[in-house]
Amino acid sequence: MSKEKSAADKLREELFVTNKHMAKVVGDEEINKAFDFCKGYMAFMKTAKTEREAVKEIEIMAAAKGFVPFVPDKKYKAGDKVIYNNRGKAVILAVIGKKSLSEGVRISAAHIDSPRIDLKPNPLYEDSEIALFKTHYYGGIKKYQWTAIPLSLHGVVVKSDGEKVEINVGEAEDDPKFVITDLLPHLAYSQYEKKLGDAIKGEDLNIVIGSLPLKDAEGGDAVKLNIMKILNEKYGIKEVDFRSAELEIVPAFNPTDIGFDRSLIGAYGHDDRVCAYPALMAALNIDEPEHTVMTVLADKEETGSAGNTGLRSAYLKNFIYDLAAAEGVPGYRVLSKSECLSADVNAGFDPTYPEVLERNNAAFLNRGVTVTKYTGARGKGGTSDASAEFMGRVTSILNKAGIPWQTGELGKVDEGGGGTVAQYVADLDIDVVDVGVPVLSMHAPFEVVSKLDVYATYRACFEFFKA
Ligand code: MN
Ligand code: MN
Repeated sequence: MSKEKSAADKLREELFVTNKHMAKVVGDEEINKAFDFCKGYMAFMKTAKTEREAVKEIEIMAAAKGFVPFVPDKKYKAGDKVIYNNRGKAVILAVIGKKSLSEGVRISAAHIDSPRIDLKPNPLYEDSEIALFKTHYYGGIKKYQWTAIPLSLHGVVVKSDGEKVEINVGEAEDDPKFVITDLLPHLAYSQYEKKLGDAIKGEDLNIVIGSLPLKDAEGGDAVKLNIMKILNEKYGIKEVDFRSAELEIVPAFNPTDIGFDRSLIGAYGHDDRVCAYPALMAALNIDEPEHTVMTVLADKEETGSAGNTGLRSAYLKNFIYDLAAAEGVPGYRVLSKSECLSADVNAGFDPTYPEVLERNNAAFLNRGVTVTKYTGARGKGGTSDASAEFMGRVTSILNKAGIPWQTGELGKVDEGGGGTVAQYVADLDIDVVDVGVPVLSMHAPFEVVSKLDVYATYRACFEFFKA
């Protein structure tokens, strides 16, 4: 029984913003595509738990799609696919377009580092016949969330003879794992009195790595000695080699479906691999675009994008200048005509914690790719704030392609805030806006996203490249 719509209802439909659940807007086919796409994403997440591992995996995937290492000074032709590896921790993929570079390039930028816990340069010690690692956390973590969960160790050690040893312990089924201990509730009366942020201190994030003494060892530190012996036998390293290492502690969980309906994904490191993967797949799946397109997957976003693998470094600009020089175009002209989607996550509206987000301007799970005009904190400090013109341009691309999208704001005004790489891309004289996937429990060891949003973000990157 269909009821005739009233004039007011028709007018509401015509004039009001309506953000609907994607499942009410798209067909079953699109939902199936989204679930399929996310199988690939979850496989990627399983192998790419650090920026270095992500770069390795991306190089393999790119090679399979015909990408070859970038050669500066080489003149490329439309359809050529190149990849530039920045020190094993960041990467740029480019597909050369039919148009001259003087018409600018289309960039999708995301980051492949995630909040985690790094080992200190002198990490190994023994206390009370337990061997432990001292750590220094990386990025904004709620420290209490990282205790009493299984952890794995990833990274590289460069030995004094220059040999590089790769370490990955705690991911294979029968691998040992590691853990940060917490107090038992029975004896936590003083801990309970502390503020949440002070209950676990940075110096409390010590990793338990063993408890057996070296057999028949005289003197102290026999457990530490036994651990060092195991490490020496397996990796050929000595204690001094920790000083020239990058060893990262991450959760030992695998990505998994969440919910009876399997609509969500729980995983470590969605921020920002949940946008890096769609941006990557857009570059891998596009052939002979009009404009030259590039996906840049950066490191160090979680600590402010400083360092030569972060986006405040010149490597993206230099890469574009190299391409421009080969075509005889001034690099800065290419930059000023270029456009970028800064693909990063936003806070998803959490019904358990509604008080920190403002409903009219928050991003909701399953409502599609989030377009975030500005981030920042305290009066838009630390954001590039996309122009009305560029917001209009990007959202018209999404509308034309029928991609569900919503807007997002990182929390209520003066509730907190944060930034993305968008501001550093804007520094290059490029038009840029943030797009991405809303996340629940952002920066926790186990974050949650919706499969439909992941797919909408992929489609957004792909259609932007095509436009
Ligand atoms: Mn991020
Ligand atoms: Mn983050």
